[in-house]
Amino acid sequence: MSTPERTWAADPSVDLDAINAGLDPSLPTADVAVYYPSNLDPAHSAKVTPELLLSGFVAAKDVFGAAGVQLALVAFKTGWLDPRLFEINSAENRADVPSARFTNMYAGAERRPARLSADAMAAFETMIDDVPGADVTVHLVTLQDVFMEFFEQLDYRTWQRKTISTGGLSFPGYMHGDTIPRHMRGVITITDLTKSPTSWKTVAHEIGHKLLNVSHEYRDVSPQHEVNADGGLMLYGEGTEIPAGPEGRYHRERLHRSPYLYTTDADGTRTYNADYQRGGFYYDPIYDGVSVDLDAEKAAHDKGT
Ligand SMILES: [Zn+2]
Repeated sequence: MSTPERTWAADPSVDLDAINAGLDPSLPTADVAVYYPSNLDPAHSAKVTPELLLSGFVAAKDVFGAAGVQLALVAFKTGWLDPRLFEINSAENRADVPSARFTNMYAGAERRPARLSADAMAAFETMIDDVPGADVTVHLVTLQDVFMEFFEQLDYRTWQRKTISTGGLSFPGYMHGDTIPRHMRGVITITDLTKSPTSWKTVAHEIGHKLLNVSHEYRDVSPQHEVNADGGLMLYGEGTEIPAGPEGRYHRERLHRSPYLYTTDADGTRTYNADYQRGGFYYDPIYDGVSVDLDAEKAAHDKGT
């Protein structure tokens, strides 16, 4: 039996210079790398193609460009992935207690962060090299199925465990904090870019989770597991807005404070935003003044104010 090619290398058919043409060094920029296994099952391969990944990236460039942020494609790599890692659970089960009832989901996640499953760790380690700058790069990793488990509350004392297959999953700071090895903390899995009429925005939406560090929320919609509505980038509908100010839940301000963003001066030196100070959860000190006090918001709502 011949040994498959295990080394991950740049796909020579992807012209990074053409995709990155016109970037302005003085504008805040985030680097994105894409990974595409060369041995995916034929029955899956149409769900994520290199063309769909690239068109999703170009759509994301426009979405973030409208909010004053550039995306640079710094690598498009292919290589062999152990087929036992084509389908994975996103997180290990140890953390699976229903989210805290007596505080909001972001504060609850900080108490009990999600942790990568062993298979997720192994898949990401195959593709993402531990090199300088890896920890401030967004890594779009193609897999065949990534399952996510969560609890849905049915009544006061009953929760139902749900397992859903994701089309994209962002492993965001607000869920994982600093439990992901640092060089791969920018990981996002992409598993299906064909499943809905809004799949063109999946790449942008997942990068949004990572760079805005928020769940599914928009203006007066508070964060939830799944929201099917049009409006902002962070809901599942057609919207792409990254709104500013308190009425926009500070999405644009949070984006511009992301540690993944840098500017480049005239001699080519990069200056990155400050790194997370307390694990990178929703209420990390880097977001002082641009986080919503959800417990206060809920209390005001319950009082009818
Ligand atoms: Zn989402």
